[in-house]
Amino acid sequence: MDFDVETIVIGGGAMGSATAWQLARRGRSVLLLERFLPGHLNGASHGASRNFNTAYSDPTYVAMLAEALPLWRELEGESQVRVLDQVGMVNHGPNPAFDDVVSSLARVGLGGSFLHPAEAGERWPGIRFDGRVLHTPDAGRLNADASVAALQVAAAGHGAQIRHDTRATRLQVHDDDHVVVTTDAATIRARRAVVTVGAWTSSLLAGVVPTPRLVVTQEQPAHFSLRDASPGASTRAASDWPGFNHSYDPSEARYDYWYSPVYGMFTPGQGVKAGWHGTGPVTDPDARTFTPEPLQLAALQRYVRDWLPGADPDAVAPISCTYTTTPDEDFVLDRVGPVIIGAGFSGHGFKFTPAVGRVLADLATDVAPGPGRFALSRTPNAAPGGWLARR
Ligand SMILES: Cc1cc2nc3c(=O)[nH]c(=O)nc-3n(C[C@H](O)[C@H](O)[C@H](O)COP(=O)(O)OP(=O)(O)OC[C@H]3O[C@@H](n4cnc5c(N)ncnc54)[C@H](O)[C@@H]3O)c2cc1C
Repeated sequence: MDFDVETIVIGGGAMGSATAWQLARRGRSVLLLERFLPGHLNGASHGASRNFNTAYSDPTYVAMLAEALPLWRELEGESQVRVLDQVGMVNHGPNPAFDDVVSSLARVGLGGSFLHPAEAGERWPGIRFDGRVLHTPDAGRLNADASVAALQVAAAGHGAQIRHDTRATRLQVHDDDHVVVTTDAATIRARRAVVTVGAWTSSLLAGVVPTPRLVVTQEQPAHFSLRDASPGASTRAASDWPGFNHSYDPSEARYDYWYSPVYGMFTPGQGVKAGWHGTGPVTDPDARTFTPEPLQLAALQRYVRDWLPGADPDAVAPISCTYTTTPDEDFVLDRVGPVIIGAGFSGHGFKFTPAVGRVLADLATDVAPGPGRFALSRTPNAAPGGWLARR
């Protein structure tokens, strides 16, 4: 069965779904292919919570945040589904970049201010604070599952075709305006193909488009039950608990069991989520264990015991999810001929999803190249600069 479509989007996670939405709402014909069924747990966009963390100092990311916030609200308006709760976030621990964050956010009208740890501890007794606290009130919590579903519903509402359980097995570039995608059941010709397949990027694009080194890891945050089991505690927590980022200084002995900075938030119905960032074992996305590495899990439980008095370290439910990380932790948003690539979100992409969709849709409709920062040809920054919790 052969047919034509203007744009094929391969990969129905957050980024592919957002691109399909952005293209369809511009009246473009678009087909979205997703290899698994809705709600699958095999990629990076499942689960009920992600931080909409605004604590970035980098102007490129701050501009994308400022673009993404109203787009999330537009999506909610179109889909009639609430996905973003602006419960605020707290950032603490040794980190030299906090002052730059406040000034960068102020430039785009987003808030950031400092609290004394005692004051913050009174306000949020479930968290023990490590030095001064950067509070970002516009930040919040995104429901990942609801967001992906809402993006696909909204895209379909504008005429996009969505096909689940359909795997693209091959991509062939014929010329700058002609690409052929083969699936298990069809051969599809298109003017443009957007490839947003997360952990499977290197394998699907091998021999088609050069990609930077992408490292796929199996990450393992976990949910911890609230200690407060009184009636209504979980409902209160859903609005009271801020998201959190805890930076550390590896040279200090008190952090000697830490694997990385810690991020987290409260997930309604599941408890307090906490996790190490980008420390999971390198994995083949088609041969995952879905089981946590025990030493990291034990260290995470110790972290909860030491720093999250509002959570029970022994009532733990691990989560499994993939990161696809570039050498500099910056995204890849670029185009080569008829192929558009959205990859390497390095564990911090979800908050930007609708803005990433806009950039990829622009690339697919010849509107504008992406930010040079995300170009395939860029020279990776020597080291991911100023690791401020990019969560
Ligand atoms: C544990 C964890 C916590 C995170 N926390 C945060 C956070 O707090 N804040 C934040 O901003 N970000 C966070 N992130 C990062 C964020 O979730 C990701 O950046 C984002 O989900 C990446 O989306 P994606 O669409 O690129 O990938 P995916 O969701 O993996 O989508 C790729 C899709 O492509 C499909 N696919 C693959 N191959 C094919 C094929 N051949 N044919 C058809 N379909 C195919 C896959 O099935 C998959 O659905 C977190 C990530 C993890 C893992």
